[in-house]
Amino acid sequence: MTPTDPLRSYLPYYQSNERGMSMSLTGECFCGAVKYEVTGPLFDPLSCHCSRCRKAFSSQSSNYARIDPGGFRWVSGEENLTAYVGTHGFGLLFCRICGSTLCGTFNESVHGITLGCLNEDPELEEIHHIFVDSKASWEVLPHGVKTFSEGRTPTDRR
Ligand SMILES: [Zn+2]
Ligand SMILES: [Zn+2]
Repeated sequence: MTPTDPLRSYLPYYQSNERGMSMSLTGECFCGAVKYEVTGPLFDPLSCHCSRCRKAFSSQSSNYARIDPGGFRWVSGEENLTAYVGTHGFGLLFCRICGSTLCGTFNESVHGITLGCLNEDPELEEIHHIFVDSKASWEVLPHGVKTFSEGRTPTDRR
């Protein structure tokens, strides 16, 4: 990710919250072998309801936020990570012991985190729900969430 990444036009949700500059979040897998810390902003929180994400995240949808690579570090257990890299350079990092999906990667560097592995409330203001036309028949979307039939187009951006 570079400073010219167009997605950076999204507001970093953390910048005005009460954690101020000392903000820090921790996350870990189900068994606790792998732990990480996020010291920078989370941004672009997304929940994708497509059939591919259902399988990749073993859930009704992905729940994911991007990070700045400089604001993320592994605290312990990094040797327990295993990776799956798909086409186009995007991949996922799992705990090889318990199977939790911890992070997304792009070209082998951490690109974002799965919100489910966070230990604290990230206080995200709004998660965009994308590809809701592809959601599973058994999923009921909450009222009032921001939805997109498919991916977001540039006109969807704030
Ligand atoms: Zn684990
Ligand atoms: Zn998806």
